[in-house]
Amino acid sequence: MLVNLCKDHSLVSNWISEIRDVTVQEDRMRFRRNLERIGEVAAYEISKTLPSIRKDVQTPLGVASHQVLQSQPVLATILRAGLPLHQGLLNYFDKADNAFISAYRKHHPDGSFEISLEYLSCPDLNGRVLILCDPMLATGASLVETIQAIQKTYTPSQIHIVVTIASQKGIEHVEKELGAAIPIWCAAIDPTLNDKSYIVPGLGDAGDLAFGTKMQS
Ligand code: URA
Repeated sequence: MLVNLCKDHSLVSNWISEIRDVTVQEDRMRFRRNLERIGEVAAYEISKTLPSIRKDVQTPLGVASHQVLQSQPVLATILRAGLPLHQGLLNYFDKADNAFISAYRKHHPDGSFEISLEYLSCPDLNGRVLILCDPMLATGASLVETIQAIQKTYTPSQIHIVVTIASQKGIEHVEKELGAAIPIWCAAIDPTLNDKSYIVPGLGDAGDLAFGTKMQS
């Protein structure tokens, strides 16, 4: 299942247009905050699909009955670019447990790369709703490898993927490797990847734009 949060116009389209815009990108705080806001909207939309229970609450004047989340999800992200989007999800799922994964592109001299997954810090995920976020779904390789690594040890009750910009190729790769049952929540779908597997038109390097440039490994 693919959900495009920008299918109909909303503030999300404005934030996506700002994170892509080279002039607005100079403001690193605004870039991070826009990713965070998209994470907040994704959290709100995903919450509508999660199991809920009815709870009576005592007000000063009586009792009110409401549907509330049955349990908090586990929020996971891939370091480092995923941190602002993760913070947005955490702003809304504010009692959630969290997981962090280091997966990065290890570049070879010929320009090709492999995904190096070195660190996975997470609680017991068995029977829990897992929401995994990464701002850019380019080839889909790091998301697929991360979820497959998690599934070797744990069986979450549901997995949701949250990204800002998804490439058509990345969506197809995730659906082929993981099945179409894992929902992908995105805010834009872009047509192509360049020869460095960056999304085009995309926005550039999300990690660098949020946190500054790094030495390439
Ligand atoms: N990671 C990024 O930051 N940008 C892309 O376009 C692809 C992967």
